[in-house]
Amino acid sequence: MTEIVYHCTEKIKHLEASNTLPKKMERMLVDAGLEKLVKGKKVCIKMHLGGGIGYTTIHPVFVRTLVDAIKQAKAKSVFVCDGSAKGAEDRGYTKRSIHAPLVSLFGPGGKTVTVPMNFKSFDAAEISKKALDADVLIVLSHLKGHGDCGFGGAGKNIAMGMTPGSTRGKMHALEGSIKWDEAKCKKCNKCIQECPNHANKFNDKGKYETFWHACKYCRHCILACPEKALTTEGNNFDDFQEAMARVIKHVLDHFGKENVFFITILKNITVYCDCWGMSSASLVPDLGILASRDLVAIDKASLDLVKEENLIQDGIPGDYTLGEGSHLFEKIHGKNPFVLGEALKRLGNGSTDYQIKIVD
Ligand code: SF4
Ligand code: SF4
Repeated sequence: MTEIVYHCTEKIKHLEASNTLPKKMERMLVDAGLEKLVKGKKVCIKMHLGGGIGYTTIHPVFVRTLVDAIKQAKAKSVFVCDGSAKGAEDRGYTKRSIHAPLVSLFGPGGKTVTVPMNFKSFDAAEISKKALDADVLIVLSHLKGHGDCGFGGAGKNIAMGMTPGSTRGKMHALEGSIKWDEAKCKKCNKCIQECPNHANKFNDKGKYETFWHACKYCRHCILACPEKALTTEGNNFDDFQEAMARVIKHVLDHFGKENVFFITILKNITVYCDCWGMSSASLVPDLGILASRDLVAIDKASLDLVKEENLIQDGIPGDYTLGEGSHLFEKIHGKNPFVLGEALKRLGNGSTDYQIKIVD
């Protein structure tokens, strides 16, 4: 099935506020049938509130535009959530700036629902009860690269953003790992020096650790070790993505297609995820805002808009080199960003066929 993906482009006809993105976004929400979606309903907006000194998350004006439109459409209630809202006020997200309460899904009072997964070692997932208890889920995502998932879009916002650390850990465990044999290790540090991504270290207790957000499974560390103290236990990125897809499937099936909506902001498209607590220059020029009723379609459309020929060199850290791959994000992170969408399509939860509808 061909899904509609609405696109508010960056290009403005002439310089008037009514031609800029917040106003285009308002028109897009009307076109996409927001009123029918939210009227009389309890609405959960899931977004990534960032961390630390990051400054490239979604600007509050877009959150406020969405919240105001939901209120005008006579929703019963609306709240904005993330795994943790801690520190979000310092980054500009306040009830005053976004017109809605901020809710932490986890931490004190953050109950979860246990959902059987039965996929290899991924026995069960915990998913936020607060989010699942809403009538309507609006997934407001910021597109960016992601060291572990390849990219961050709508799918990652659900799978990694509506589950606690214990469930995320189970999904990551499916990726396979790098095993360190302490008895063989001579602490020569060659593995650390050879890692092009600063993804490994010896911790305070002298134990070897891999930082999976940054690791690209290049295995330089393994090859560099003269003692054969590091060995690989497989590169199961596809299993990791399958696990994410199964969590997403549960969430989408729980709400039903008529009660979910996706908006992705394609501005400040950085190399790494907002969870790093810092920001860097954009990889490509800003690309506007997308919206769709279909998660797979919006993630595919987002990826298709990010083109390598538009790469801004300052967006790539100086110690990075581009590798092989079918997409710029894959050349940066070594992970195929299309795997998740294909898995969801196979599970019956989305379409990679889409048609762009430009909103002026
Ligand atoms: S596999 Fe590559 S990226 Fe990962 S820790 Fe080893 S050297 Fe670093
Ligand atoms: S290269 Fe091998 S021996 Fe040297 S510190 Fe790393 S794991 Fe230990």
